Amino acid sequence: MGDKNKTEKKDKKNKKTGKALCKLAKGDFIKEHLEDYKSLVGDPKYLCRKCGRVAADKKNLCKTEKLQEG
Ligand SMILES: [Zn+2]
Repeated sequence: MGDKNKTEKKDKKNKKTGKALCKLAKGDFIKEHLEDYKSLVGDPKYLCRKCGRVAADKKNLCKTEKLQEG
């Protein structure tokens, strides 16, 4: 008995993940963590030259380009 033991791991790492948005956006991150995503892109300072995404932190992009010079 007790074989209906659902071991759901809701411990999906940190929300403020260091992964590139470019990768996150392909998965369910936006759907599941919309507010987190907003905070990541809310005040964009960097642009990804590869896929055109923007983020406040360059570590969240794969090919970083500064949005504003200086
Ligand atoms: Zn990218």
